[in-house]
Amino acid sequence: MNIAFIGLGNMGSGMALNLHKAGHQVTGYDLSEAARRSHAEQGLRIAASALQAVEGAQAVITMLPASQHVESLLIGTPQAPGLLAGLPAGTLVIDSSTIAAETARKVAHAAQDKGIDFIDAPVSGGTAGAAAGTLTFMVGGSDGALARARPLLECMGKNIFHAGGAGAGQTAKICNNMLLGVLMIGTSEALSLGMANGLDPQVLSEIMRRSSGGNWALEVYNPVPGVQEGSAATRGYTGGFGTDLMLKDLGLALENAIATRATTPLGALARSLFAAHSLSGHGSEDFSSIIKLLQPPA
Ligand code: NAD
Repeated sequence: MNIAFIGLGNMGSGMALNLHKAGHQVTGYDLSEAARRSHAEQGLRIAASALQAVEGAQAVITMLPASQHVESLLIGTPQAPGLLAGLPAGTLVIDSSTIAAETARKVAHAAQDKGIDFIDAPVSGGTAGAAAGTLTFMVGGSDGALARARPLLECMGKNIFHAGGAGAGQTAKICNNMLLGVLMIGTSEALSLGMANGLDPQVLSEIMRRSSGGNWALEVYNPVPGVQEGSAATRGYTGGFGTDLMLKDLGLALENAIATRATTPLGALARSLFAAHSLSGHGSEDFSSIIKLLQPPA
């Protein structure tokens, strides 16, 4: 298939390369010159603009930071219409960014008006899952659009869930990430307490991983540098899931909780802690660096 892949960042990189390795004709584009160059070196065809990337594409996949990026790229403004305006009917558009469910529904309606199949398909699994092609997709949209997208999603992930209609994938994603934010803070807190008592973080991590406190952060995303080979913490909190992206997701969860009158006290507290962490200069570090907020200065 001819696929345009827009957004070759920490996640989009592995995803686009896996589609390429599976034999699809992938044309990538990213605003960042460094990302364009490094993917050209890895054999991806690179376009000079998003508009050029989608020329002749049967499917368009976006992996961008937040709602505003997706909305401006796909819908745009009356003065500067986005990509949907120029795509032929029958094109398949998949947005895998984590954005507001409301924005995903807005894009879905705009796509429907043009006879374009659109699904929101945010992911879980981190950069390691993106590189290994083992992501979990949470899909919102019609059965028909998901059936068309499934062979492409299978090149990038191993679990594909149909959460419901347009926007439902995004709603599932913010529930998951609210839980992840809380779990990372809880895990960091427990490890910090143990270390303050002289415990070896490696030993304590193993004890908790195999006990009732076991969770995904302890399994594959330990926040203490050196405890896990290949973790973002061990890489100096680089190249993973940015604190500011987690802050965005917790903000989406909080806005949703306000709109639906749901009670999410730990999600709200987690958002405040990640906001404080970002304000003190850690916004671009991996979100597991939240452990720094809970430890006495070295
Ligand atoms: P990132 O910041 O590493 O990558 C985003 C890329 O989009 C950047 O390279 C940026 O230059 C590019 N970009 C922004 N606007 C663009 C535009 N208009 N046209 C072309 N390129 C544009 O972010 P990421 O970590 O890859 O995350 C992407 C999305 O996936 C976010 O919504 C994030 O919340 C979600 N997500 C991230 C992870 C993770 O572990 N990093 C996991 C699951 C979901």
